[in-house]
Amino acid sequence: MNARERLARFLRTDPRDVGCDEAMAVLHVYADLVAHDAGAATERYPGVAAHLAACGPCREDLTGLLAALSGDV
Ligand SMILES: [Zn+2]
Repeated sequence: MNARERLARFLRTDPRDVGCDEAMAVLHVYADLVAHDAGAATERYPGVAAHLAACGPCREDLTGLLAALSGDV
């Protein structure tokens, strides 16, 4: 990785971001919280919220879970 790539990665990454693995591990719990109280979900899992803000694929998974929870699927 050269300096330019390192900088790009640094700028992309929120220090609170827990990463895909950890976000996926709690995503169903997080989705359940969001469905009831989005503010509480962000407060309880700030690292997951930061990750979802930065990661399109995980955000899509959350959208799918929320759709399932609301019975839209
Ligand atoms: Zn992710």
